Amino acid sequence: LGQKISNALTLINNAETIDEKVLDACLKEITTALLQADVNVKLVMNLRTNVKTRANNADKGAGLNKRKIIEKAVVDELSSMLSSGSATDEKQLVDLKKGKPNVVMFVGLQGAGKTTTCTKYGAFYKKKGFKPALVCADTFRAGAFDQLKQNATKMQIPFYGSYTETDPAVIAAKGVDEFKKASHDLIIVDTSGRHKQEESLFEEMRQVATQTKPDLIIFVMDGSIGQAAHDQAKAFRDTVEVGAVIMTKMDGHAKGGGALSAVAATQSPIIFIGTGEHMDEFERFEAKAFVGRLLGRGDWRGFVDKIQEAVPDDESKDELMDTLSKGNFTMRILYEQLANVQKMGSVGQIMSMIPGLSNSGIFDKGKEKESAARIKKFMTMMDSMTNKELDSPDPKLWQQESRIMRIARGAGVHPNYVGELIGEYMRIRTMIVGSGKGKGKQNMLQQMG
Ligand code: GDP
Ligand code: MG
Repeated sequence: LGQKISNALTLINNAETIDEKVLDACLKEITTALLQADVNVKLVMNLRTNVKTRANNADKGAGLNKRKIIEKAVVDELSSMLSSGSATDEKQLVDLKKGKPNVVMFVGLQGAGKTTTCTKYGAFYKKKGFKPALVCADTFRAGAFDQLKQNATKMQIPFYGSYTETDPAVIAAKGVDEFKKASHDLIIVDTSGRHKQEESLFEEMRQVATQTKPDLIIFVMDGSIGQAAHDQAKAFRDTVEVGAVIMTKMDGHAKGGGALSAVAATQSPIIFIGTGEHMDEFERFEAKAFVGRLLGRGDWRGFVDKIQEAVPDDESKDELMDTLSKGNFTMRILYEQLANVQKMGSVGQIMSMIPGLSNSGIFDKGKEKESAARIKKFMTMMDSMTNKELDSPDPKLWQQESRIMRIARGAGVHPNYVGELIGEYMRIRTMIVGSGKGKGKQNMLQQMG
């Protein structure tokens, strides 16, 4: 879906002039893609009308500006589709009330990440001063209780479960009751998964819900499932009153194309995303950054924030934002970012945020060691560059073969490697500042607001 919308936007970027015809062609592709993903017709028509209105209101003469306006309008509309899936907005769902027992039930297919996410969710609120507790109502999968126990112990969250009782609704009721008595204000109920939409297991889910009367039911969905998202989400929503969605496995290549469908099918917003197997790999859902990633535009702000965590230096962060917003992306910036990535260790997560890097030759998902070695090699080559080469934003510099030969000699590598580095640099550069031919010069920061 992201790819299709991205392609549609390319029509706008490649057009000489943006007239009604070009805009209509672009919007037709976008609406078709959304409708195919089962996004509600009314929402899709709204998007079309709103984008059109904004485009028509834009100054007719300003071609470049109009491109930006249209693209921004599409991003905005998609973001609002994602964050206002229902009457209850995302923020309200995340801001749990203190001082009352909030019962939250997790549902989703087996392997979606419920048990992992339950604990992450509990830990998130524990940090905010809540008293969370976990109840294991999964008697279907062998070892389910042990898994929850292990996670809960790690995060020091009290838990409840049973090795002998076979009725999940009974366990759930007992657990919730006990934790209410112990005045826990967040009681999380983990349920058993389903291999597919099986009636018997849906019945079990209904019973657990009846017994525990949850304040919120969260549907957990694997972020990489794409097209299947709609039917799956709808099946759960038709059984119990799903109120929010969490998408897991958003680390790596998963772009979350199923997100819009899941939101549409459940009429519920996405509130968090899971970005890894570790307990701290869990984030609030940010619609705009998400749409940016979905459309392959990267998330510079998120990336810069990550850097900030590792390198607590406000000045360097501001400087970077400033430089990027002026459309400068030099070798030196690439060097510094690679150095930061190296310092931080967790290469995968960081790289997936950088526009262009996640699918580049620099970083290969699942091959973190190789990627780290590659980063090192690239940096060695950059160490042989002159200041001019590091700081000049002029891509013509790299057309001179003598430079490439000199750098290769200095770094003790084959010139092909230098060529590869320059190729990657140019590719990322194009993504960030555009081709520099006067059109399509896109500025990440402005677009992503
Ligand atoms: P459940 O069957 O729905 O309870 O799913 P689990 O919590 O047992 O998770 C299934 C697998 O997915 C486990 O190996 C988890 O470590 C993994 N997992 C869960 N969330 C994430 C995530 O956000 N990213 C990644 N990479 N793996 C995850
Ligand atoms: Mg589980």
